[in-house]
Amino acid sequence: MAKHDIEITPAERDELIARARKLAEKFAELGPSADEKNELPLELVPLYKESGLARLIVPKKYGGFGADLWTVALVEKELASYGDPAITLSFNMHHVMVGIFRDLLEESARVRLFKEVVENSALLSGPFSEERAGFSTIADTVAVPDGKGGWLVSGKKNWATFIEGADIVTFNATITDADGKIPEDYKEHAARESVFMVPMTAPGISIKRTWDTFSMRASGTQTCVFDKVPVPAEGYGGPFRTGLIGEMEWVTFPFAGVYLGIADRAFRLVRDSLAKKSLGHTVSGDNVMVRDVGHIQHQLGQALVELEMAERVVQGTAAIMTAGGDAAWSAAERPARISIAKIAATEAAVRVTDIAMRLTGGGAIRRGGPLERAFRDARAGIYHPLSGDAVYELLGKSQLGVLD
Ligand SMILES: Cc1cc2nc3c(=O)[nH]c(=O)nc-3n(C[C@H](O)[C@H](O)[C@H](O)COP(=O)(O)OP(=O)(O)OC[C@H]3O[C@@H](n4cnc5c(N)ncnc54)[C@H](O)[C@@H]3O)c2cc1C
Repeated sequence: MAKHDIEITPAERDELIARARKLAEKFAELGPSADEKNELPLELVPLYKESGLARLIVPKKYGGFGADLWTVALVEKELASYGDPAITLSFNMHHVMVGIFRDLLEESARVRLFKEVVENSALLSGPFSEERAGFSTIADTVAVPDGKGGWLVSGKKNWATFIEGADIVTFNATITDADGKIPEDYKEHAARESVFMVPMTAPGISIKRTWDTFSMRASGTQTCVFDKVPVPAEGYGGPFRTGLIGEMEWVTFPFAGVYLGIADRAFRLVRDSLAKKSLGHTVSGDNVMVRDVGHIQHQLGQALVELEMAERVVQGTAAIMTAGGDAAWSAAERPARISIAKIAATEAAVRVTDIAMRLTGGGAIRRGGPLERAFRDARAGIYHPLSGDAVYELLGKSQLGVLD
């Protein structure tokens, strides 16, 4: 079977989307207070597990649903659009990590991990970014050999989405010499950077509640601290940078789905409000219906074009991957080419929420309303890897023949 051959049937895809729509009702219920309190509602964790979506993209041969790239985007879109964007972003980290591990792990580690996900609905978080340079930081978190084949991990991850709900934390750390020192040469540092995973119950893991943002408040992206956390040999997941770069699609498509969902949510909110809004007596007439105003019709159409352009780019990129068209992209360019789908979705979310705010009128900026939240949440999309700037630079370099 090729990497992105589709295992699920159209009926199975529809059924997964229907599950997401049902779960979205609960997300929608708790979203406003979660945003206000700036935390992930942990009562949703057992409901997520009950929904079965934990095994969404685990391949069928390991007991999962085997969802493909486009299906994971559609499920995330449904949860963000009809449920809540920030809560969806939080659970989204689980799918990002499962997706990456579909090919990154050695078979024995993969079997062990997917068994936990399928049989116990174990949920994963994936804090990699650190304070010094975000996702670009070659891990300052250290894995010091314990002399028995395992490591003692110490460090701090300041972007740990879903960490409070997770059963397993997967992260990167640099394997040091016995003395605990990180190599001075940055290439050697990068070569030693590896992926690890441990249960959240491991001694030495603590969470600092540092999350206080204006965007994605309900995602519960706290700080995770490792203090001499024992990681046995089975907790090793392979090299980080080189491995992850080959799995960029499993970062791109789940994130793209979340932000398509934000754009879809904002579009529906503004359309439904404008369709019935009457201005009554104004200087232009005695009962002006907003839906009859030319510039409003025009901009609403523009919002739809933004949404649909992005959706077609995400679906089209998934189709390219399924057809194996990515083989035409060089290994260095591949992550950037794939990430075009993420940029399309995150930029559409920014543009559609912007149009929706303008068209809805001043009431849209009142704190806590669904559109105001969508507008704020859309702004986080630009930071997820690969960022737009990273993609433009990579592709520009490639076209100019100066990409290493
Ligand atoms: C809501 C939310 C949730 C998140 N959750 C997670 C998570 O669960 N796990 C996780 O690992 N991360 C997570 N992140 C972190 C996200 O991946 C970071 O925002 C990202 O790594 C960028 O880091 P930074 O924001 O600290 O900016 P920096 O990387 O410090 O960027 C600062 C500036 O430097 C530039 N820059 C960055 N790298 C380079 C480079 N190599 N060369 C030249 N210029 C560069 C940038 O373009 C930017 O202009 C989350 C982010 C958000 C917004």
